[in-house]
Order: sequence, then C-alpha cells, then structure tokens
Amino acid sequence: MGLLDQQFKDENIVITSVEDLLNWARLSSLWQMGFGLACCAIEMMATSASHYDFDRFGVIPRPSPRQSDVIIISGTVTLKMATRIKRLYEQMPDPKYVISMESCSNCGGPYWEHGYHVLKGVDRVIPVDVYVPGCPPRPEALLEGLLKLQEKIRNESLVKKPA
Ligand code: SF4
Repeated sequence: MGLLDQQFKDENIVITSVEDLLNWARLSSLWQMGFGLACCAIEMMATSASHYDFDRFGVIPRPSPRQSDVIIISGTVTLKMATRIKRLYEQMPDPKYVISMESCSNCGGPYWEHGYHVLKGVDRVIPVDVYVPGCPPRPEALLEGLLKLQEKIRNESLVKKPA
C-alpha cells in the first residue's frame, strides 16, 4: 500500500481557489524549450538527463516554441542570434517565461567588455524571469532557478484586476 493510499483511505475533500489550482497545475508542468548556445548548454542537457532528472519537476523538453511555457537561454548570445531568440520568444503562447542560464546570457560573461559580437544580456531583447549565475552554473543551480520560477508562478494572478 502506498503512502497516499494510507493518507486518503477515507473520502476527503480539498478546499482551494481556482487560481491556486491553476497555478499549481501550471508550475508543475512547465514544458521547456532549451536554447543551448555555447559551453553552458552541456550543463543544461545534463539537467535533463537521468542523474538530475528535470522531468521530476514536470519540465518536459518540447521541440517547438508554440508548445513551450519556458525558454532556457543557455550560452553566449551573439548579435546575430539575438534576433532569432526574439522571434522564438514571440512564437511562444502566453503566459510564458524565460530563464537566463549563466553569465554570458545574463550580461555577456567573459565577453562583456571586448566581445563586439556578443549581446550584453539577453534581457535586452526579451524579458527574463530568472537569472542563474555562473560560468558555467552546475545543474543544481539551474534546478534552483526553476524552483524560483515555480515560486513566482505560485504567487501570480491570472485574474485581470479592475483598473
Ligand atoms: S558563461 Fe562561461 S561556460 Fe557559459 S557559455 Fe559563457 S563562457 Fe561558456
């Protein structure tokens, strides 16, 4: 007999708000589009592999921005790539989120001063919800970033407040 079987062997009711229920569902199934651009992409891929197991948080990789809730920018954003990132972001359905994973996409990283071809932060073209620091950050840091994003979603309201 499993843990939940013991806990809910009698009939139970759960009282919550629709908003909390929706937020719980959304934060528990964040489909991701990983956008690996350089060295840090290896750490992002490791996060999805069996040892770190991103899937256990409901983070499932999708091949299309049109099916994705969150885009993870992982690597050096060149000026040429910046327009592609913006286009992919615009193709994602609302509500959508961005994790900037590492120093290059946060602020230009080692290229911040002399990298004439590098964007000094992906937030210059798309809004970033969570910044993960490091060069490169370990998979644990990306997991921490995801938990921060989940926390943010948990406190969001989808109800349009009267002006
Ligand atoms: S932050 Fe460091 S490890 Fe990551 S892409 Fe930039 S140079 Fe590579």
